[in-house]
Amino acid sequence: MTDVSRREFGKLAIAAGVGTGLPEWAGPKPMIGIQVGAVSFVDEGVAPVLDRFQHDTAVNTLFIAAFSYGRGIAGRQIPGQPLPDHGKQEYDSGYHGGNFARVHPPYYTGTSLKKIQAPDYAGFDVLGDVIPEARKRGMKTICWYEDVFRNDLEGVDRLQETTLSGKKASTLCFHNPEVQAFWRALTEDFVRSYQLDGIMWGSERQGPFDNAIRGAHEGGRDPMEVTCFCEFCKQAAKARGVDPQRAIEGYTKLAALVRATSRPADGYFVSYWRLLVQYPEILAWEKLWNDGLQATYASLYKLAKEIRPDIGVGWHIWHNNSFSPFYRAEQDYAEFRRYSDFLKVVMYNNCGGPRLASYVRGVSHTMLGDFPPEAVLNWTYGVQNYAGEGRLDEIPQRGLSADYVARETKRAIAGVGGAVKIWPGIDIDIPTAANEKKTQPEDVRAAVRAALAAGADGVLLSRKYSEMRLANLRAAGEAVRG
Ligand SMILES: [Zn+2]
Repeated sequence: MTDVSRREFGKLAIAAGVGTGLPEWAGPKPMIGIQVGAVSFVDEGVAPVLDRFQHDTAVNTLFIAAFSYGRGIAGRQIPGQPLPDHGKQEYDSGYHGGNFARVHPPYYTGTSLKKIQAPDYAGFDVLGDVIPEARKRGMKTICWYEDVFRNDLEGVDRLQETTLSGKKASTLCFHNPEVQAFWRALTEDFVRSYQLDGIMWGSERQGPFDNAIRGAHEGGRDPMEVTCFCEFCKQAAKARGVDPQRAIEGYTKLAALVRATSRPADGYFVSYWRLLVQYPEILAWEKLWNDGLQATYASLYKLAKEIRPDIGVGWHIWHNNSFSPFYRAEQDYAEFRRYSDFLKVVMYNNCGGPRLASYVRGVSHTMLGDFPPEAVLNWTYGVQNYAGEGRLDEIPQRGLSADYVARETKRAIAGVGGAVKIWPGIDIDIPTAANEKKTQPEDVRAAVRAALAAGADGVLLSRKYSEMRLANLRAAGEAVRG
């Protein structure tokens, strides 16, 4: 058997189960999950938080944010956003981040990034202290960790990406063996040290072409600072017959096109396309970056299954999948079948409105600059399978509809062909600007119902309990219980 068919066979054997017919990690259907970080257990107590999840919200699976240096899934509410109606009523502006479980040093011998213990809640082990309480209540626990770092960590510089202009980036390179060693060490630590039902890792990043053309919802990137052009990436490129010097030349011309202050004589689209034809190394480098990410998924999947064949392994799929067709083309659900038991596909419909508008305004300055932003939005609706959503000036305040959630759920299910569980990520109070869409209970009820009616195997309430208001959480429970 090839590696892939052996893995497929292994998945089928596990899925066949003993007695239940269901893999042990999957738990009850529908899976009702919630993302929660250490600060909520520290502030509110482990038992009260779990009781609330079970009784008010019908949650049967915890997705515990165990590692991140970001504030999206860990820490309290982001400063400046209104605090929710539970937890400590003050901001944690001194948040640091890291591993919120206990770090077991022997696993980290292959990487110089090893001092990762989060200093935020000394003595509290978010996995060790919560899992026994969850098990007592019959709740599953999935360890949730993401690809977000800070620059002031000892040893991190050796792992960082290199930008087109030659600077160090704050992001880590998937082609760097120490980065692979780091993710494997962290994964092994989690899987061997704790009684987990599953692991979910996520990387909210994309390749240099997508970043250069501003193909994301988070605002512009400097096209001279896209990644990665480190020595490991150059070696990997040469091994596949791609000339690094030609790639650097192509990306430098791409940056000049992005920075042009007036419309090129042949228009934007033709000029970009011409560059892609003249420098196929541009897309070859984009593929190189994506192959590094996919190799990481495959490596972590294999590692976790070797240690614990009964553990569930899946991935958080970034929201940009809903906006940018360039990014969506790189998220091939059929390909994910090779190394996934489940996918949390982000379908945050409330903040989706302002985020889609932001993406549209970004690409309207680059490759799609021949069209006014409203036309780019309509083109995006067509390409990305939307129907009945608002105008560009409406969607930041209206958000996106539950129909969007249903459509994305069906597309994901069709894409994986039944081989992988689909758990849509549902938006509860994800921060937006003051004048933009805010989550209401009816939004949560409609989105949860839409996902389950479209055939989802469960839903994952996101991004973190510490920013969710209780009425919106209860609405999720109401939708599940009918
Ligand atoms: Zn690199």
